[in-house]
Amino acid sequence: MEVQTSAAVGVQTNTRITGPIILLGPPAAGKGTQAKLIAQTFGIPQISTGDILRANVAQKTELGLKAKAIMERGDLVPDELVCDMVADRLLEADCCRGFILDGFPRTVGQAEWLDAQLEKMRSCKAGDMAAQKACAAPVVIRLIVDYNVLRQRVTGRRSCPTCGRIYNVYFQPPKVQGICDVDGTSLVTRPDDAEDVFAERMKTYDRQTLPLVDYYRARGRLVEVNGEQPVEEVMAQAFGAIENVNRL
Ligand code: AMP
Repeated sequence: MEVQTSAAVGVQTNTRITGPIILLGPPAAGKGTQAKLIAQTFGIPQISTGDILRANVAQKTELGLKAKAIMERGDLVPDELVCDMVADRLLEADCCRGFILDGFPRTVGQAEWLDAQLEKMRSCKAGDMAAQKACAAPVVIRLIVDYNVLRQRVTGRRSCPTCGRIYNVYFQPPKVQGICDVDGTSLVTRPDDAEDVFAERMKTYDRQTLPLVDYYRARGRLVEVNGEQPVEEVMAQAFGAIENVNRL
């Protein structure tokens, strides 16, 4: 059985139909942070393909066994595996007002698949404007961050295996080196955050994911945000993009 992440739905302050939102950017651009803030504010689920894959690896599912080595060397898991996984997730009830894709699509093939999938979902809901809006063409928020800033964010990242708290040895160190402030557990580095794997992930990003910028720009769906600004500023601009978009 494949593991699915449950929706990270927080306090609902906005109940309108948001539709699909894509966060596009290289590793450590802040996609996860912004996705969580959007999820909490708009009451829609964050769908992180990286998180779902890691959960499958941890549970040693069939998908996890196929993905493990690929992820550890910084490559992309084949499109058909990831697309099937996303298709299943989009059928869950919590996607009925929209959803945030964090880390998907990552190739032009995945973006084309998603457009076709959303169109299929809309055609099943003919006559129901609200349901159609929930699977309208996505708004794509691209977070732009300089390579060296990304490198420090990634290679400095440490997390607590017990409580999940994230630190950064450069920007947000724990009080005692290598130890979680909250519960005293030894901090760990994600295997794909190692320096050589980071370099490989960036090459993969440039080669396979960056073409999505042109793909979405050509379709008039791209909003670009400077991801080096403080979290609140990035959030304000991302929220503006979501609020102002004209879906249908
Ligand atoms: P992330 O946490 O988003 O950086 O993802 C971690 C790893 O999971 C990536 O380096 C890929 O190996 C894999 N992965 C996540 N999302 C995708 C995707 N959309 N397509 C292919 N591989 C993915």
